[in-house]
Amino acid sequence: MAVSADPLPSRVADRQIGTSTDTRRQEEGELTDQVRVVIVGAGPAGLVLGNILRARGVDTLVLERNSREYVQNRARAGFLGVHSVRVLTEHGLAGGLLRAGRSHGTCVFRTGEGELTLYYGQLGRGESHVVYPQQDLVTDLVASYLDRGGELRFGVAVTDVDPATGTVRYRDSFGAGEVTGRFVAGCDGGHGVTRQAVPGRPATRDHGVSWLAVLAAAPQSMAAVTYALHDRGFAGHMARGPQVTRYYLQVQADDEPSAWTEERIWTALGERMRVGEYWPLRTGPVTERRIVHLRSAVASRLQHGRLFLAGDAASLISPSAAKGANLAIMAAEVLARGITDVLTRDDERVLAAYSRTCLPRIWRAQEFSHWMIELLHAPAGDDPDIGFRRSLRRARLDSLRDSRAHQDFFAENYVGI
Ligand SMILES: Cc1cc2nc3c(=O)[nH]c(=O)nc-3n(C[C@H](O)[C@H](O)[C@H](O)COP(=O)(O)OP(=O)(O)OC[C@H]3O[C@@H](n4cnc5c(N)ncnc54)[C@H](O)[C@@H]3O)c2cc1C
Repeated sequence: MAVSADPLPSRVADRQIGTSTDTRRQEEGELTDQVRVVIVGAGPAGLVLGNILRARGVDTLVLERNSREYVQNRARAGFLGVHSVRVLTEHGLAGGLLRAGRSHGTCVFRTGEGELTLYYGQLGRGESHVVYPQQDLVTDLVASYLDRGGELRFGVAVTDVDPATGTVRYRDSFGAGEVTGRFVAGCDGGHGVTRQAVPGRPATRDHGVSWLAVLAAAPQSMAAVTYALHDRGFAGHMARGPQVTRYYLQVQADDEPSAWTEERIWTALGERMRVGEYWPLRTGPVTERRIVHLRSAVASRLQHGRLFLAGDAASLISPSAAKGANLAIMAAEVLARGITDVLTRDDERVLAAYSRTCLPRIWRAQEFSHWMIELLHAPAGDDPDIGFRRSLRRARLDSLRDSRAHQDFFAENYVGI
């Protein structure tokens, strides 16, 4: 795929601080000089990038809209693939993950015709996931970034970025301010502002499916990730920690989370997971419920001037195949290598190829994620193709059951990028 890249912003001045508010901030120790890389967003993408750059002695400033407490408690991903584990390990960021993460290599598809168990850790390349909650990873990454001398400002909302000059404008409790970086990393997630500074329309898709994402303070009910396919809609079960389990329920797009009482959630989960034919769920208080609309958006290019997009800012992906955090870590590593090469060796090759390197992997992940969406979800009752689509789904599961080649395809794509 040919992706045009802007000329790289090498040999340009470092950050300037311009306003009187900024002078006040400096006097109060709020900002430092010589920021070579301004990173917008303290999620997995921004923090992995910041950590790798700090380890290589690059000056970085992370600006995060929310509080430290908020980002360290935001429960989202949990399944990290081998590539992510390798990146985190190689860069000294895997202490918590290696201590508390749990290897996971089995998933189950449960239907009215029985269960299909795939030992994907023994299929394909023989790779497994490590289950480690995203909020624990973010907590580790914040701590190590600060240990490495990185500068991180919480409660700072970036309002816009000028890719030509590297100027990042923001608002914080002092008012408005700006900072200029030789490079700016847009790691502000799927609804951030940096993506808007990159020309070109993202390729988007609304998959027409919504999930109620539930966190329950309860041990896992099954040994494996379980995908329940039911005419009333999909239900999913994923371990997160010894006393925390993530569940998903396919719901109507306009459903309010509050309409889903604990009783209604456990009843729907029990029905779709067909507990009567298997074993009961281990219930517990529901600690979080939110609606997630399954949508995709891929930026047409990941670089414009001094601005580089990474993570959900570059590519929003549905959680159906657990790829988002893994893509964020992949892009952060490539970007860190590119920036370091320019700063230390005046070598622009990796950075110039950033979009070209990342976009094909992003699209592979999107393709597999879309494949999973089609497999997991029941067509709606008013869908004129309902019979046809149900039969296709059954045929795909039959193929997964019978074909070793198909199982290997699944395993490679499920764990890899
Ligand atoms: C329910 C659910 C389950 C998931 N499960 C998995 C899974 O198992 N495996 C997986 O790989 N992925 C999963 N994902 C996806 C994964 O959580 C995301 O892909 C991942 O968080 C992306 O990381 P990021 O750093 O790009 O963005 P984010 O984690 O969204 O971080 C962006 C940060 O930028 C900050 N920000 C936003 N705007 C601004 C601004 N204007 N100024 C300053 N800061 C700003 C935000 O506050 C945020 O802290 C899941 C997602 C959901 C919703």
